[in-house]
Amino acid sequence: MSDFDLFAMETLAADASRQVLANPHASAADYRQALGTLLTHFERLVRETRRMISQSDRREAEMNQLNARLGELARRLQYEATHDGLTGVLNRAAITDRAEQLMGAVILLDIDHFKRINDHHGHPCGDATLIELTRRVLATLPAEAMLGRLGGEEFLVVCPGMRLGEAAILAETVREQVAGQPFTAGGHALAVSISAGVALLMADAHSAYQSADAALYRAKSGGRNRVEVAR
Ligand code: GH3
Ligand code: MG
Ligand code: MG
Repeated sequence: MSDFDLFAMETLAADASRQVLANPHASAADYRQALGTLLTHFERLVRETRRMISQSDRREAEMNQLNARLGELARRLQYEATHDGLTGVLNRAAITDRAEQLMGAVILLDIDHFKRINDHHGHPCGDATLIELTRRVLATLPAEAMLGRLGGEEFLVVCPGMRLGEAAILAETVREQVAGQPFTAGGHALAVSISAGVALLMADAHSAYQSADAALYRAKSGGRNRVEVAR
């Protein structure tokens, strides 16, 4: 602790007043002088106290602002770490994480001949197709299902608590929603289709993915724009 006394001046003034008070022979002039000195110090203390209070109010407001910004940054960071930058759906890590924690069924879906869209109409048109695809898929999925982009034009739907048959019907509905109406991506009307593989999601998410991938492969080699269920 420092020996510095913040109120040294005030202590001196109080001591001097106390001496006047203790002196039975002190005159009115002595009292007046002591009172004047005390008043000067009292007013200074009031001014300083006001200044310190308003300074601490400002600091508190600044701290609150900084805390709010920090909270907002943390939320944005969390969002960006778990979402795909282009389509806004869950990213690979996040959808895999969900699949590892849930049981039900998975639908692995992949756009047919997506490379041709890029080749014929350009990469921005390919991007717009991916965005429109996710919009249509999300509009078709029940509330409890989750959509994630595994990479490129491959997506995974996790359907908690869903039986294989129900997931196959859902995948078929999604396929129809995609192929039924042409996409308008980047000013072009495009015929887009998807192929899908459906599998049960039990304790092992990786083997569910492998089964769905094998079914997807059969859908592709069977002519595309179709759904296959894992055997
Ligand atoms: P298949 O029917 O067998 O699935 O054929 P495909 O053309 O859809 O598949 P392929 O794997 O041959 O091509 C996928 C293409 O997707 C190649 C790659 O350049 C493109 N691609 C990957 N990510 C993106 C992206 O973010 N935006 C765009 N525009 N294209 C992407
Ligand atoms: Mg593809
Ligand atoms: Mg692919």
